[in-house]
Parts: sequence; structure tokens; C-alpha cells
Amino acid sequence: MIQKQVNMNKILIFFLAMLCFFSCNTEEQTAVASSKAERPEYAMVIHGGAGTILRKNMTEEKDKEYRDALTQALEIGQKVLAEGGSSIDAVQKTINFMEDSPLFNAGKGAVFTNAGLNELDASIMYGKDQNAGAIGGVTNVRNPINAARAVMEKSEHVMLTGKGAEEFSKKQGLEIVDPSYFKTERRWKSLQKAKENEEDMGYEIQVLNEDYKYGTVGAVALDKEGNICAGTSTGGMTNKRYNRIGDAPIIGAGTFADNTSCGVSATGHGEYFIRYTVARDIAAMMEYKGSTLEEAGEYIINQKLVEKGGSGGVVALDKDGNIAMPFNSEGMYRGYVTPTQKVVKIYKDE
Ligand code: ASP
Repeated sequence: MIQKQVNMNKILIFFLAMLCFFSCNTEEQTAVASSKAERPEYAMVIHGGAGTILRKNMTEEKDKEYRDALTQALEIGQKVLAEGGSSIDAVQKTINFMEDSPLFNAGKGAVFTNAGLNELDASIMYGKDQNAGAIGGVTNVRNPINAARAVMEKSEHVMLTGKGAEEFSKKQGLEIVDPSYFKTERRWKSLQKAKENEEDMGYEIQVLNEDYKYGTVGAVALDKEGNICAGTSTGGMTNKRYNRIGDAPIIGAGTFADNTSCGVSATGHGEYFIRYTVARDIAAMMEYKGSTLEEAGEYIINQKLVEKGGSGGVVALDKDGNIAMPFNSEGMYRGYVTPTQKVVKIYKDE
């Protein structure tokens, strides 16, 4: 009787073990299969800056203007990617459109320095070989992201600044404009407001963006070949001086891309993004800790950066086409596109 019971137990244990083996295996296979099935053919995510962007401060027209511009920007990148173009081309063309739009703080419509100039910063990084290019403080290159790309592809350097970057851009045949091209009334007024506030507050190095909106632009794309590219372009922060350069052209701070983890483009208070190597940290959490893109983005932007007092956000996508757009400010102009989705958002509650 006892022997019979033991045998029955053995059979039961064997049966349970087999059940577990098959069900665990099936689950694993399903996970792999579904992640393969879910990976979009291509994807792109963009931002047009983060900051105090509140519904109550927005008119219906302004809201629509931004949404239309973000949608158009996404469609430009989507066309490149859908036709099998590279993520580098998608990022460059999308950013070119945003640089040419006076709505954003990049290219035309860039914010003013304390001296009443527009000094532009940009960078681009390719996740396939981690090649990168950046320019800082240029005053006459119409599309700074093109100069960053030229540094990446046509020079042996990663970062050029000031007069040298302008000379290099001219030699590369990029479009050079009179510095007055970048001026918009709206940004000029922001500078005057910042200067008044500065007098009130008595700071010498006070920098301020209109209503603390940042307005930098950025894009991260994943092409059909699985290559990630990230790029960022900006006028920096209103009332900046002493040739201040922010995070946008700093690889690892404002921009980062690696095919094995993710691509990131940032916007926000640049000094914090530089000090805490925000873009690279998100990729590093994925690389070394095995975090998902969402976990890494949430931790770095909504936990660590908040603790450190840095405001802003990032847009990011990983090698499987997962998308994250975390930010800790009131709002962030943002959106993404895949073959089946096109999404544009502005405020925190959407
Ligand atoms: N991050 C930029 C900078 O600090 C500003 C922005 O995002 O608008 O230069």
C-alpha cells in the first residue's frame, strides 16, 4: 500500500515537472515571438522642447500650430524610413524642418544670448558604429544639425565650436546665412524679459527661457536595417553668456545612440543633463543592468534628475522599437510614428 502511494507520488511529481517544463518553454517562446512580431519595421520619436507648457497658457490656435508642426515633422521622417532610407537621413530631415520653423528654439526662432546674438548647438550620433558629430556656438549655419552630421562623416573629430565650426561648415558647402536670419520678435522679447528679471533678481548668470519653456528639438529614429540614430539641435537658453554651451551638443548628455541599447535626445536645463550624463545613463542602465527602456527613462528623468533638481525630459527608442518620452516638467512637445501609429502630445495629462 505504502509502496503504491510512493509510486503514485513519483508519477505526480514527474507529471508536474513535465508540465512546468513545457509551459515555461512555451512562455519563453511566446515572449520572443511576440517581441519579434511587435517590433515595428521602423520607428521615430521627436521632441520640440520641454518646460512650463500649460493648457491655461495656450490658445487654441497655438496648440494647433504646434501639433501640426510636430505632425509634419513626423511625416517627413516617416517618409524617409518607409522608403527604406537610413535613420541618419530621417533624423536630419526631420530636424531640418523643425530648425526652419520659427516655433522651436533651434535654427530660425532660436533664443538670444545676453549680447543679442543667436548661438546654435547641435549633435548627432549613429548607433551602428557610435560615430558622432557636434557643433557648438555657431552663428551663421542655417541648419546646425547638417554641420553636426558633416563633422561626424567628413572629419576625424567629434566636436567643433565657434569660428572653426563655421569655417568647417562653409568648406563643406553648407548653407551660410546672415546671423539676422535667426531673429524672431518673440524670442527678442523673451530676452528683454529675461534681462528685466535678471535686474530684479540681481544674478549675473541668470538664464531664462520664455516662461521656462526650453524649445530645443530632437529626433531618434530606428530604420528598417535596425540602425538607430539620435540628433538634437538648439539655440540653448535665453540670456546665456560667455559662450555658454549646453547639453545638446554633448554626446552622452543631450544625445546618445547605440544599436545594442537605445537612442536618446534630451531637452531641459542643460547644465544638469551634462553633470548627470543623462542620455548615456539611460543607455547604460539598459546595457549593464538589463533595465527596459521605460524603466531606465523613468528612473533617470523622474527620479534621479528630480532629486538633483534638473528639469526637462528625453525622447528615446530602443533596438526593438519600444518608445519612451519621460519628462519631469509641466509639458513637452513630443510625438512618435511607426507604420501603424502616429501620436502627438504636448501636456502632462495626455
Ligand atoms: N537643453 C538646452 C540647453 O540647455 C535647452 C533646451 O532644451 O531647450 O541648452
